[in-house]
Amino acid sequence: MPRPIALPNAAAMRPVERIEPVISPSGPSLFEAVDKVADDTLPKIREDIGDCTRCKLHKGRHKIVFGDGSVKAQLVFVGEGPGADEDAQGLPFVGRAGKLLTQMIEAMGLQRKDVYICNVVKCRPPENRAPEPDEVATCSPYLLRQIDVIQPKVIVCLGAVAAKTLLQTNRGITQFRGQWLEWRGRKLMATYHPAYLLRNPNAKGEVWKDLQKVMAELGLQLPKKKSL
Ligand code: SF4
Repeated sequence: MPRPIALPNAAAMRPVERIEPVISPSGPSLFEAVDKVADDTLPKIREDIGDCTRCKLHKGRHKIVFGDGSVKAQLVFVGEGPGADEDAQGLPFVGRAGKLLTQMIEAMGLQRKDVYICNVVKCRPPENRAPEPDEVATCSPYLLRQIDVIQPKVIVCLGAVAAKTLLQTNRGITQFRGQWLEWRGRKLMATYHPAYLLRNPNAKGEVWKDLQKVMAELGLQLPKKKSL
């Protein structure tokens, strides 16, 4: 990752806000129930996943899409789940939406190898439907372990599924998109998924504003570019 440049970023940031979590009345929240794994590593997490059949998504998948990027990344992007291209290649965000995410990362002055990219579920939901609650509950503890290993400064949730999963909220993403939130002691921002931007290119400007806040937080030089 390029050397951080100290920038005054207070003006670019709203105060960190908390979102009320939706805690299951019958027990601890999804992530409170996940024990920290001592001396955890990304290879250990991948090994634990193995040839996973823990949820029904295993039935239609070709490849498990674990995640990709730097274990030392200061910035982690979390998406929803693999699509057809990702399922075929075993890599996250390599289809059309992935190409747009790559453009977004490069517009920030970074490369894909500087960040870490992963998803809430590691196997492709059939016909690209949203992952169901039981699938999210079964798979997302691996995501939590990945984030705990990487310890990024900033997490960017791409789309509602990632945001609602990590924040454990039922609030719509438009209510908190672009705001700094606190998640387990880290800065988290939710923005629109690149697939949504492909359908709604007019929303690119809002996402670019969100990413510029992320850049300021990471001490990256803000570009003159006005849109993605
Ligand atoms: S989505 Fe996750 S929990 Fe479900 S089968 Fe794939 S790796 Fe296992």
